[in-house]
Amino acid sequence: MTSYEKLLLENKAWAKEIKDDDPDYFNRLAQLQTPEFLWIGCSDSRVPANEITNTQPGEIFVHRNIANMVVHTDVNLLSVLHYAVNYLKVKHVIVCGHYGCGGIKAAITNHDYNQVLNMWLRNIKDVHRLYSEELKALSDEDERCDRLVELNVKEQVIHLAKTSIIQRAWKYEHQPHLHGWVYGLKDGLIKPVFEMAAGSHIDPLYEYDDL
Ligand SMILES: [Zn+2]
Repeated sequence: MTSYEKLLLENKAWAKEIKDDDPDYFNRLAQLQTPEFLWIGCSDSRVPANEITNTQPGEIFVHRNIANMVVHTDVNLLSVLHYAVNYLKVKHVIVCGHYGCGGIKAAITNHDYNQVLNMWLRNIKDVHRLYSEELKALSDEDERCDRLVELNVKEQVIHLAKTSIIQRAWKYEHQPHLHGWVYGLKDGLIKPVFEMAAGSHIDPLYEYDDL
């Protein structure tokens, strides 16, 4: 059996186990999804949103990309955000990074990863530049990398707050709340590092006054 055939077989076993336990499970879930959370996480295979939060299908709406970035030209991310905020009416948006992130590590090298990846990683280099003094003060390379993971999560949360999607929702719905978390690969624990309650203020130039 090939590795992907094993996935299909495991899927059958999983579906059967759930149905045996709760015959109406899939019918109920197929009717509608009402997740309370939007999760913006890293694509890293070791950080699956549902498993590490012990949640079930239907509980978290998920978007993942390399290094959990919120890039304002990313149509994919913005579509997910728009849908989650305006249609699913999620109460919380969580940006979850993780220590030991390969994307963050790659961004603080001078290696040419070719244009598309370079373009993506450049967004992380910009975060590094913003906090370069704090980061340069850390002599240990791993420590510096871990701190950049935390600062990157913080910056991506602020990037969420800069979108008219979030600002409009804050004005009219008083939600969602924004959270920046970092997951530890070594202990499985999530550390909250930054938070913005609905209605928080950012640099005034980024705040729209005619929403
Ligand atoms: Zn990562």
